[in-house]
Amino acid sequence: MNIQTEYVTKQPVVMRILSQSMAENRLGHAYIFEGPRGIGKRDVALWLTKAQFCLQATSDQAVCDACMNCRRIAERNHPDVHFVAPEGASIKTHQIKELKQTFVKRGMESDKKIIIIDEAEKMTAKSANSLLKFIEEPDADVLILFLTTAVQRLLPTIQSRCQLLKFQPLATSVLVKELEANGVSEARGRVVAHLTQSVTEAVAMATDEWFAEARKHVVQLYGYLRMADPMAFIFIQTDWMSHFKEKQQVQTGLDLLLALYEDKLHVQLMSEQPLICMQQAKMIQQDALQGKVTNTTNEITHILTAKKRLEANVGAQLTMEELVLTFIAQSDQGGN
Ligand SMILES: [Zn+2]
Repeated sequence: MNIQTEYVTKQPVVMRILSQSMAENRLGHAYIFEGPRGIGKRDVALWLTKAQFCLQATSDQAVCDACMNCRRIAERNHPDVHFVAPEGASIKTHQIKELKQTFVKRGMESDKKIIIIDEAEKMTAKSANSLLKFIEEPDADVLILFLTTAVQRLLPTIQSRCQLLKFQPLATSVLVKELEANGVSEARGRVVAHLTQSVTEAVAMATDEWFAEARKHVVQLYGYLRMADPMAFIFIQTDWMSHFKEKQQVQTGLDLLLALYEDKLHVQLMSEQPLICMQQAKMIQQDALQGKVTNTTNEITHILTAKKRLEANVGAQLTMEELVLTFIAQSDQGGN
């Protein structure tokens, strides 16, 4: 199945807007693609880019995926197409400067240029302003695609100049079924579907040993936290930190922990939503009955705060230790 056929089914609104705009020759100069991780923003950005350059594109924007241009775009090797992703924590001004220089230096093959900015919320204000100058030049034929998981985190200067296209999340049940068709059990499928919308990424996670071990660590940590057991603090130092070494891994760990508390909240609210962590259902239901909704929402807030602190480059161990202490302190105040 090619990308276009796949996404006409998965993201019909986005695809219709883009196809129609191309057919009527009124594609904008800047778009924001917003949607959860793995939803296909990059795939659609690549398809749109190919549709601009494909040597054999048909009138309905079907790209050939085989011509020289399509192949160079797929290999990120087309002189008029530029990909920008954060270097470390942000997209820096020098990256945009370099981009400008390549535009000037390289013998361009066409007048059109396309810039795809991944994790666009990580642009500094200076980089963003410098980039936006591209689309303000009167005779520039530039298309900029900002990809992000959260449009409200983009700078207002970007938001106000772009057309927003929201990628709709796939229903979890649809994703879990697709995963089952790929040999992933429902129990495991529900957990990975909580972390990504990409079937490929989800299948990889579901079969990854590190991930299976990470799940065990998270359930163990939850076991300590629900009892307000100070062992949680030692567990972070002795076990947790040696398994969750990279920042991204700690984020995954926190997302998995979050899933348990979200389940607890859903049970407390008597929501009909199926549990994410089916295998821990008994423990979650018990905790839900014994705890208060306000405490669960506080616990969820603590985890989200920890995620933000990591994002802001606070050390992983410090973040985790503080999180654990906050949970224990809440329970000392008669929390649970
Ligand atoms: Zn082509």
